[in-house]
This record gives sequence, structure tokens and C-alpha cells, in this order.
Amino acid sequence: MADGSIKKMGEVTRRTLATPALADRTILLVDDDPANIQHVREGLASQGYRFREAHDGTEALRSLREVRPDLIIMDVEMPRLGGVEVCRIIKANGGEGGFGFIPVILVTARQAAGKVEGLELGADDYLVKPFDMLELSARVKSMLRLKALQDAVVEKNRELDKANKELAQKREELLALTRVDALTGLYNRRYFEERLTEEFVRSTRYRSPLSLVMMDIDHFKKLNDTYGHPFGDEVLRQVARTIKGKLREVDFVARYGGEEMIALLPETGPKEALGACERVREAIASLQLEHRAPDGSRQPVRCTASLGVASVPAKSLPVMEELLRVADTCLYAAKAAGRNCVRQYQEESPG
Ligand code: GH3
Ligand code: MG
Ligand code: MG
Ligand code: MG
Repeated sequence: MADGSIKKMGEVTRRTLATPALADRTILLVDDDPANIQHVREGLASQGYRFREAHDGTEALRSLREVRPDLIIMDVEMPRLGGVEVCRIIKANGGEGGFGFIPVILVTARQAAGKVEGLELGADDYLVKPFDMLELSARVKSMLRLKALQDAVVEKNRELDKANKELAQKREELLALTRVDALTGLYNRRYFEERLTEEFVRSTRYRSPLSLVMMDIDHFKKLNDTYGHPFGDEVLRQVARTIKGKLREVDFVARYGGEEMIALLPETGPKEALGACERVREAIASLQLEHRAPDGSRQPVRCTASLGVASVPAKSLPVMEELLRVADTCLYAAKAAGRNCVRQYQEESPG
């Protein structure tokens, strides 16, 4: 090759190398001979790279922990810890929690004999001394490109992971929303029915007690008519909160219809269920509700509810629909009995 064309090639290489993506990279130079390090530094001086130096394998590993270089150019023949061994350590710790991917160019005075060994141990490239500076430049450039691509892949994977996690969380949130009644925060009827089906099956299989409570606010229409729909909504929220507060964590409360709530009490027989219903009824009747008129005047408001409750196992309630039906009948019996009271389903005693 003529002298002129080598010069031209050098210029081209320099221009390509000095792209902003590759300049400003950190290269770790490892060699026990300072003269060799100096030689490489001078050869790459015009490219804008940052350099770190280490003079043996141990120092190289220490330096690796402090700075994460984008490339390592390392001598093979060094006292104690040699380049091949250091390379093996770096590549064995290349995972996310370790060094990550750092390309290594091994440099040796030995002839090609060591080449295979070096590459098998995971060196990414290999140069035999004495080497041409243009060749070194070109290889450095291609290794830095490789490193930049690898970093971009890692970053993209991280973003993808994050996006996937966010998506999974959003899916969970959405699912939760489809189960909840927006006004009261209680579960909705559809989800309640799913749960009731499951619990009924479980109760039947294990003969474990299960109680169902239906609740309906008394004269709610009048309350709406007197104080307005928004106030009615507020009362619904407070009644819902009161019911939840008086039942156990494992009890399942839902809004069944307009001002009708329903609760499922697992592992609860008739006696305990009646007790729970009385607690709920009492707490609703004791709510300190207050309506504030636009003119600032305040008006105490009374609110009560009627409750119907039924429990299984019961011979006369072999299917879920029957349980629902008799709880509803009890609720209407409570209304008929004057409201603000609880009525419980009593199974006819045999004989
Ligand atoms: P009873 O004691 O017999 O249950 O009488 P009631 O007035 O409570 O019963 P009715 O079924 O006649 O009226 C229920 C009222 O509940 C009518 C309806 O407008 C109101 N309602 C239903 N859903 C909502 C809601 O989401 N917000 C408000 N504010 N009112 C509602
Ligand atoms: Mg050496
Ligand atoms: Mg009502
Ligand atoms: Mg009603």
C-alpha cells in the first residue's frame, strides 16, 4: 500500500472513531511494562478516549471495581496474575450483578500459539506485539461499538422488564376495579356472586357453616327526596363503611343493588351470624349523620337498615339460590315488622 493511501486511511479511521458515541469512553490499559502502556496511549491519543492504567492483574481487578471501563487492553504476560487469568475472571463475572459485559483485547508478544487459548477463555480480540497502531485503532473502535450495542441491549431489556412489571400491575389494578363498586368501595354484585358460588361449594363439601346477610336501608327514597341524591350517596358510603367496620376481615361485603348490601360470613353459624347482624344494625342506627344545607344550617339525619340472614348447612337449603331466596324473604319480613330490625331464617324442625 502506498504511503499516501495509508495516511488517507488513517484520517478516515480517525474521523469515524471520533464520533460522539465512541469518544469519551474509558479504556483500561493493563501492562507490567509502562513503556507499552505509553505506546498504546500515544497511538490512541487523538481519539478522545479516557484512560486508566493498571500494572498487573490484581491492580486491574481492583481498578475494574472502581471504574467500569468500556474496554480493556491487557498484556498476557504479567507476573503473578496474568492477562488470560484476569480475562477468565472478568468473563466469569459478566452477569448483571458483576462487571457486566466489558470487551477485552489481549496483547501478547508470543506468536499465534496463545491465540486459541486467549479466545477460548473469552477474550474478545487478540493482538500480537509488535502491532500496527492503525490496526489497534480499528479494533478498539469495533470493540467499543460492540460494547455500546451491548449496553443498549441491556438498557432496552431493563426498560422492557420495567414496562412488563408496570403492565402486570396495571392489569391487577384493572381486575380489582372490575370487582369493586365505585361509589361505596365495596365489592360489586357480579364478584359477590362468584365468591358466593365458591363459598357455597366449599361449605357443602366440608359441611362448614356459612351465613348470608341481606341488608337494605330503610326509607332511603325519602332521604334522597328530602336531602338530595348527593347526600344519599354520602349516606350509602357511610353505611358501607359501617358494615365493613362491624364485620370481620374474612367476611365478604358487597353492594347488591341501589341501597341494598349483602354479606357472606364464612365459618359462621346462625347464632354468631345473628349477633353480627345486630351489631351492624345497631351501628347503622347510631350513625351521626348530618345534612348541611347551602345556607349553612345543619340538620341531624337518622338512618336505619333492615336485615335478613340465613345459614347453611340446612336441609331445606340444598342450593345457593335457595339460600339467597330465604335471606331475601327474611329481609322483607324485617321490613314488614317495622324496619330497623333483623329477621333470621329458621329451618322447620323435622317431624
Ligand atoms: P324501604 O324502607 O322499603 O327499603 O324503602 P326505600 O325507600 O329504601 O326503598 P325503595 O326501593 O323504594 O327506594 C330505594 C331508593 O334508593 C330509590 C333509589 O333512587 C335510591 N338509590 C338507589 N341507588 C342509589 C344511589 O346510588 N345513590 C342514591 N343517592 N340513591 C340511590
Ligand atoms: Mg508483560
Ligand atoms: Mg330501602
Ligand atoms: Mg331497596
